[in-house]
Amino acid sequence: MQIEKKDIRALSKDQLREFFVSNGDKAFRGNQVYEWLWSKGAHNFDDMTNVAKTTRQMLEENFVINHIRVDQMQKSEDGTVKNAVRLHDGLVVESVLIPTNTRTTACVSSQVGCSLDCNFCATARLKRMRNLNPDEIYDQVLAIDNESKLYHNRPLSNIVFMGMGEPLMNYNNVIKAIDKIVSPEGLGMSPKRITVSTSGIPKMIKKLADDEVKFRLAVSLHSAIDEIRSRIMPFSQNFPLSDLRESLEYWYNKTRSKITYEYVVWKGINDNKASVDALVKFCKYVPCKVNLIEYNPIDDGEFQQASEESINEYIKALEKNDIVVKVRRSRGKDIDAACGQLANKEA
Ligand code: SAH
Repeated sequence: MQIEKKDIRALSKDQLREFFVSNGDKAFRGNQVYEWLWSKGAHNFDDMTNVAKTTRQMLEENFVINHIRVDQMQKSEDGTVKNAVRLHDGLVVESVLIPTNTRTTACVSSQVGCSLDCNFCATARLKRMRNLNPDEIYDQVLAIDNESKLYHNRPLSNIVFMGMGEPLMNYNNVIKAIDKIVSPEGLGMSPKRITVSTSGIPKMIKKLADDEVKFRLAVSLHSAIDEIRSRIMPFSQNFPLSDLRESLEYWYNKTRSKITYEYVVWKGINDNKASVDALVKFCKYVPCKVNLIEYNPIDDGEFQQASEESINEYIKALEKNDIVVKVRRSRGKDIDAACGQLANKEA
């Protein structure tokens, strides 16, 4: 009977050190291998060139490295790159590299499919297959870091959890992945350059605050009126805006970190004065800024980007109330890499 080999990256550094000691080697060997597995992102034991061949063979006999594989890479006219990422069990997620003049941002997935049901999002049409584990999240970041160095001659500067899935429905694994990304033994990245975006799960936002996380928080608001929000994001029926507000106040009191609201303005849905007023009011509860995101159509007529005038109404009202607002143009639309378009067309 073949015994299934264990994924070596499920071991902590201490466990790896112990493994070597119990096999008659030095604990230090564990540090070396750990570095290969994480900051150097080795895909195979044979890549570990400063480890003796016999040791590499011994590792091979005992473990596997379940590294992700970038199956397909598509490049957009605007420099955006989309990776179709094959997981060890054959499932596929997507991650995106978004370059600007000054930074490279990785947009990564946290789940295969999504647990939520936002009507305007392509990912919501896939049912949630499973959560990604911490190394599958970490590997996406590493792959984009390598691509950034290759194509833009600079390392990755920012990470947003705005790919497929709801990060706060895969809480523990997302936190573990970020711990690794910021650790000097991983990528040593500052948590201030990482943003976790949530559709707004109040209980989990409070948990983030209790856990004193150091990364940034973004909330996909899209409407500050319960009736509209629960129509376009049906899961939010269980999480009224009053609960969301309370959790955000809790977050801010504990972390003093400003929140970003993501907001799309759609024709006939939230392009009206009542919606503008409600957003302005909501923005006064907690220090924040607003990103107005361009809508990326997902092949159905229900949602359409609102007119330039309606968007200007939002900008005017927010600025009049000293709320910072930015309009975010879509990137990578020609390769279906823009917000809400990640749905494995090729898979
Ligand atoms: N589940 C998380 C993260 C993934 S979505 C969240 O909801 O925040 C990343 C962003 O893209 C969210 O703000 C989401 O509301 C937005 N989005 C989804 N579909 C979109 C579409 N078709 N056009 C523009 N933005 C979209």
